[in-house]
Amino acid sequence: MKSTPSFAERINAWYDQHGRKSLPWQQDKTPYSVWVSEIMLQQTQVATVIPYYLKFMARFPDVCALADAPQDEVLHHWTGLGYYARARNLHKAAQLIRDEFAGKFPEAFEQVLALPGIGRSTAGAILSLSLGQHHPILDGNVKRVLARHGAIAGWPGQKAVEEQLWRLTQKLTPAHEIQKYNQAMMDMGAGICSRSKPDCAACPVAIDCRAQLSGRQSDYPGKKPKKSIPAKSAWMLALVRDGEVLLHKRPPAGIWGGLWCFPEFGTRASLDEHLQGLGLGGKQGLWLTGFRHTFSHFHLDIQALMLDVSGGKETRLEAQSANRIMEPESALWYNIHNPARIGLAAATERLLADLAATGSNKQ
Ligand code: SF4
Repeated sequence: MKSTPSFAERINAWYDQHGRKSLPWQQDKTPYSVWVSEIMLQQTQVATVIPYYLKFMARFPDVCALADAPQDEVLHHWTGLGYYARARNLHKAAQLIRDEFAGKFPEAFEQVLALPGIGRSTAGAILSLSLGQHHPILDGNVKRVLARHGAIAGWPGQKAVEEQLWRLTQKLTPAHEIQKYNQAMMDMGAGICSRSKPDCAACPVAIDCRAQLSGRQSDYPGKKPKKSIPAKSAWMLALVRDGEVLLHKRPPAGIWGGLWCFPEFGTRASLDEHLQGLGLGGKQGLWLTGFRHTFSHFHLDIQALMLDVSGGKETRLEAQSANRIMEPESALWYNIHNPARIGLAAATERLLADLAATGSNKQ
């Protein structure tokens, strides 16, 4: 009697027929190209990543091109993808590879794992997908497939649950065809075994999937325990002159580190005081619609005041504004029609769009 094919055999057979094989990072794979794609795909959907990946690789085709680029330009290419620590770590790691490995991406697992921003699963994905090394992976998609298939209870963010999933992925990962299997598992999780609507009828491992057999797909993986996060307030100042806005660069660490923002104040009083100092205390401004930006550990409720300072004392204003709130070299008049190649914080992008809607971006 013919025995049931193994988990991996079924996954690989499904991939042969249905898997995605034409994504840009699946062509001419190198550790560098897989690394960039894996980092971009963390927390971001494939369709969103594709244009970013193509532009990024055209500008930074190899590790040294990335290492030698100014951080501002790297962040510029990341603007809109979010989670900017990923881009800062990518840049830092590229510089380490340039300086310590003569620009050649390391091929030893421990060396890859030691690079900034690369965890165990990403290191395994880079080395298995590009070089065929035997490493199991456990990204968010693989966690979901395995948690459902094995009915592993609990939130994978908990150490014990994560370790259980690592043991399972190690056990199921086949000795051969590792590239295909790891790619297939990621594809399965992203497509068939999706978060909200798993297509169990099309799934190659449905026959022994414990979640499917008990009709409890939505119970796995377990949800992160909810905790309420605090709300803070910020006041931002949008000084506009003839199609330009005054931005400043945030310090390298902390929220929106290294990105460009509108000058930010912790209280309305400190904004007013700043305006007095610039001689703009009596000037009529426009309060834009407030909005909330949510970080992982707090909400930021943002109010922004737009002041048109076109004509007159711009040079003095720029110098004063810069000196009062920032190092002068980290202030710039950002031309909305001819934008500098810099990384913009999410709130900056949102406010630029709001300013455009008021018509205040005209030259
Ligand atoms: S049977 Fe359904 S729940 Fe189970 S692994 Fe396949 S798609 Fe996911």
